[in-house]
Amino acid sequence: MSQQTPDDCIFCRIVAGDLPSDRVAETERSIAFRDINPAAPVHVLVVPRRHEPTMGALAASSDDLTDVFRLVQQVAEQEGVADAHRMVVSTGSGAGQTVFHAHVHVLAGVHFSEEWLL
Ligand code: AMP
Ligand code: ZN
Repeated sequence: MSQQTPDDCIFCRIVAGDLPSDRVAETERSIAFRDINPAAPVHVLVVPRRHEPTMGALAASSDDLTDVFRLVQQVAEQEGVADAHRMVVSTGSGAGQTVFHAHVHVLAGVHFSEEWLL
């Protein structure tokens, strides 16, 4: 699996505030910001502050993992889509992962048809 050091990791730079982002929520452990290339009217990325390349690797810390999912729920409530949203996690370039800092996509505001898989 591809690895990036935090220095060249775009999400580490967003966490540090070195790169701008449209931040919608944050906790001590995680941040949430709008995807720069939204695939749905609501498309927010929830990202742990700590760099791990995948959500699977992040799972070694139950505190970080729990916090990410709590923040997903908070974002869904804030965006008014707590009852109709989808989480997507891609692991590995073979599954379409392009940024190797763990993150969850929160998608909503679209009719989830068969084109959306699952
Ligand atoms: P993935 O393909 O699961 O690795 O998702 C990476 C996501 O990060 C893509 O949906 C990109 O549009 C998004 N992205 C990349 N750079 C930025 C950025 N600077 N600000 C917000 N979203 C970004
Ligand atoms: Zn990172």
